[in-house]
Amino acid sequence: MQDVDLIIIGGGAGAFSAAIKANELGAKTLMVNSGLPLGGTCVNVGCVPSKTLLWAGEVMHLAKSHNIPGLDIEVKNFDFAQVIQHELDLVARLREEKYQKVLSQLQHVTHLEGQVTFISPNEIEVNGQKHQAKKFIIAAGSTATVPPIEGITEVGYLTHIEALQIKEQPQELIVIGAGPVGLEFAQMYSRFGTKVTILHRGSSFFRGEEELTTRLAEILTQEGVTIKTNIQVQKAYKEGVKKVLVYKEADLSAETLVKADEILLAVGKTPNTERLSLDKAGIEIDDKQAIKVSSNFQTSQPHIYAVGDVTNGPLRLEPTAGREGTLASENALNNTQNSIDYNTVPWTIFTDPQLAGVGFTEEEQMKRFGTCMCKTVSFKDVPKALILNRTEGLIKMAIHPETKQIMGVHILVPIAGELIAQAMVLIKNKNTTDDVINSLPMFPTLSEAIKIAALSFTSDISKLSCCV
Ligand SMILES: Cc1cc2nc3c(=O)[nH]c(=O)nc-3n(C[C@H](O)[C@H](O)[C@H](O)COP(=O)(O)OP(=O)(O)OC[C@H]3O[C@@H](n4cnc5c(N)ncnc54)[C@H](O)[C@@H]3O)c2cc1C
Repeated sequence: MQDVDLIIIGGGAGAFSAAIKANELGAKTLMVNSGLPLGGTCVNVGCVPSKTLLWAGEVMHLAKSHNIPGLDIEVKNFDFAQVIQHELDLVARLREEKYQKVLSQLQHVTHLEGQVTFISPNEIEVNGQKHQAKKFIIAAGSTATVPPIEGITEVGYLTHIEALQIKEQPQELIVIGAGPVGLEFAQMYSRFGTKVTILHRGSSFFRGEEELTTRLAEILTQEGVTIKTNIQVQKAYKEGVKKVLVYKEADLSAETLVKADEILLAVGKTPNTERLSLDKAGIEIDDKQAIKVSSNFQTSQPHIYAVGDVTNGPLRLEPTAGREGTLASENALNNTQNSIDYNTVPWTIFTDPQLAGVGFTEEEQMKRFGTCMCKTVSFKDVPKALILNRTEGLIKMAIHPETKQIMGVHILVPIAGELIAQAMVLIKNKNTTDDVINSLPMFPTLSEAIKIAALSFTSDISKLSCCV
């Protein structure tokens, strides 16, 4: 039996941030991870590898679609296995530099590899050994959900993990689910030359601004991705080397088939709570198996905290998992009550163009105020987009009907993930459209779009001169 101040369960973004803060506070800490290698989802099988492959697809696409007359670029060779290996090499490097080395330098933190199970509210078991602590932080992450489709296990499928590591490119791929992971992988594989079909249960495919998601769907369709919405997948079976999915469209009773070499499951993620024996610790979970947490990350047991993908928090991202880990560590060890204002946290789907948002959507504004002062501006009105020949995007801004405070910004454009950081600061600082209008973004840049959107509430932007 070993006693410490804090036990952290997991080895991803949430766990690492918690461990770094605990070390800074001088707390005797034990961090226990199992399953994914150190670094967890983001570096190993999430953000880093997916964005590396998306960039490879973007470069290939740009070569063909730059639309500059007189410039003809040919992609002479595409070696799928080599592109994957390049991605895996980067993952290995970052895992070592940003996780293994960092952990070895935390003098108050001991690391163990092993599956954690609770045996009481103050005790866990790892590899047959018991460990006690005054406080706990659960940062056990989540795993790709396997939907209840008859025959899916027998037929076999990919999750994001295998789809980032396979060495043979599927010629045809079915993606089930059109959330961020489904959309990113669909476009990535499509740009590599795979024929991709997305089957999605809902009518629209991502929460957020419908106008912008509809436009993104149009863009992906134009690129060659087949997107089917309102789909109920019935069963899966094998036909020779092909995998077959039988589905119904919501308004039709007839069954339709789609065949492919591989099926990618992207219907969401299930929190890793099943094997933790949380009932032994008296920790409550919700109907999606997520640990219920308070605004300061406490579970139903006040001395046990939970952060990141394993919780029922509103945004499941790397930065939120990391920040929650830091704050939970401080709350646990210093009895503080830190929390996060999730309304000021941006999200991004890293398709090309990227779709990013922060703050309220039009629908949310309508619910709050019964009215929405919202404006949508096309990137056709942004000079830099004309220069880049990337005018397909939109920016939408929602402001407070009386104070003109900026309440929400949603952007569809190649670097929306970068631009949204600017909108995040405006929302965090409670800036108004006047503050934006009185600022001077560099010309010509895509970031001017935020100023043009602010101007659109009071001016006819089609009559503005080039340098707004
Ligand atoms: C394909 C993909 C792409 C993504 N891209 C982005 C992106 O671009 N930007 C972004 O912000 N977010 C992205 N995300 C989301 C982001 O990766 C996660 O929100 C974040 O990594 C969650 O961190 P975490 O610490 O909560 O969990 P994880 O990083 O999953 O860490 C949990 C760790 O706990 C271990 N564990 C589980 N159970 C136990 C147990 N009983 N005992 C011991 N250890 C256990 C797990 O094996 C794992 O190592 C992406 C996710 C996916 C799947």
